[in-house]
Amino acid sequence: MNLPSNLLPSYSLRERNTLGFTVLAQMAVPITTPSQIPEAIAFAKDQGLPYQVLGGGSNVVLPIQLSGLTLLMDMDVIEVVQNNVAGVQLRTAAGVNWHHFVGWTLDHGYGGLENLALIPGTVGAAPIQNIGAYGVEVKDYVEHVEAFDCESMQWVKLYQSDCQFSYRNSIFKVNPSRYVISTIVFNLPHIWQPRITYADLQSYFANRSIDSIKANDIFTAVCTIRSQKLPDPKVIGNVGSFFQNPIVSNSHLLTLKEQYPKIVSYTESTTHSKLAAGWLIDQCGFKGMQSGAVGVHDKQALVLTHRGNGSALELLALAKTIQGAVKERFGVDLVIEPVVYK
Ligand SMILES: Cc1cc2nc3c(=O)[nH]c(=O)nc-3n(C[C@H](O)[C@H](O)[C@H](O)COP(=O)(O)OP(=O)(O)OC[C@H]3O[C@@H](n4cnc5c(N)ncnc54)[C@H](O)[C@@H]3O)c2cc1C
Repeated sequence: MNLPSNLLPSYSLRERNTLGFTVLAQMAVPITTPSQIPEAIAFAKDQGLPYQVLGGGSNVVLPIQLSGLTLLMDMDVIEVVQNNVAGVQLRTAAGVNWHHFVGWTLDHGYGGLENLALIPGTVGAAPIQNIGAYGVEVKDYVEHVEAFDCESMQWVKLYQSDCQFSYRNSIFKVNPSRYVISTIVFNLPHIWQPRITYADLQSYFANRSIDSIKANDIFTAVCTIRSQKLPDPKVIGNVGSFFQNPIVSNSHLLTLKEQYPKIVSYTESTTHSKLAAGWLIDQCGFKGMQSGAVGVHDKQALVLTHRGNGSALELLALAKTIQGAVKERFGVDLVIEPVVYK
């Protein structure tokens, strides 16, 4: 098996993980066309090397040494497949920056993705945890995903219903290293309605009539709100929410409400509710705390931060302390949201 021609030995991922950890990939290979994916996977398998895919590194916790072959998703094409009365269909390569893509759709007059503005990372990673914000999830717009199946060594097309999308989850997340996504085809219907039910958006638009609100206005609102609340990874290392919002039974919620009447919860189904993990962490007194190079953001307790010269081990130790405190006080398990590599 030939060495991929663009193989990069001992490649620094310092600029390619938003936590800003010093990370050295044993080998990396930039992927600029889909045909390089089977080549890279075949090479890794032939050499008995582990492999992993990296987009923008905004939802991963990486160790100091990342062994095996890291595929760097750099494919960068957006194409209009069709545009008819119902809507527009777009084919977008995995390496396109997500926020750039959202801006591109709006610049071309296609609304729908505006609530997902300013989420860091790549288009190819968006289905992995079914990215979501302000009441919208990417699954609502995915027609199909084209991926290389590393088990069968075949290209596959997974339609929306095949992707098993749910809250911060998908078939891709539960089968790590099976699929390498090359392309996503999105359907954006021309019929558009503003989605501003989230409290922050409601107050932003408090003085506006709903009919006057356009997709670009929501894009601007979301960017403004996010910039005020979340630390910019270029300034303070972070991966956004470090924990998923836990889902508990309504009876568990009722018990918690007796003791904590101000607990923040959202209806998830007729039997379950989602709790705001940030509120739980805040109540345990972690907001704004610093432990060496890592800490908890002072404006949003759900965001763990790294301020330089720290490591994944320190961050994960802090996460464990937080999980223990939340479990002890509320009887709730916090699940780590980013993908942790050993
Ligand atoms: C400040 C900040 C705010 C954030 N806000 C949100 C938010 O509001 N909502 C939200 O859902 N997320 C949010 N995130 C998390 C993150 O931006 C998303 O999960 C994003 O989709 C990750 O993209 P990425 O390219 O950086 O993925 P990476 O971190 O590079 O990878 C994440 C996982 O996806 C896999 N992967 C990446 N690309 C591919 C591919 N082409 N094929 C197969 N597997 C792949 C990787 O192997 C890894 O397991 C936030 C992060 C930050 C730093």
